[in-house]
Amino acid sequence: MVAGGGLLSQIGLSFDDESAGLMPCPICKDETATDHSPFCSRRCADVDLGRWLNGSYAVPSDDPEDTERAMEEAARDASKMH
Ligand SMILES: [Zn+2]
Repeated sequence: MVAGGGLLSQIGLSFDDESAGLMPCPICKDETATDHSPFCSRRCADVDLGRWLNGSYAVPSDDPEDTERAMEEAARDASKMH
């Protein structure tokens, strides 16, 4: 029962998952594995790392406004993922 997406679906997911109190993988929303916490797998951990690296490479490091904008774009990008 996912309606609206975005923040609401994230909250819904964390409360719907009664099994172990584990957060779902932030990349693919699958179950997390303790070996790769908070991700489900090495692959998703790499995806997350890649986003951070791409963000920092794309941004001129000494311009705080650009950094902020890039962070917002990254967050918007992440919320689109399912
Ligand atoms: Zn995953």
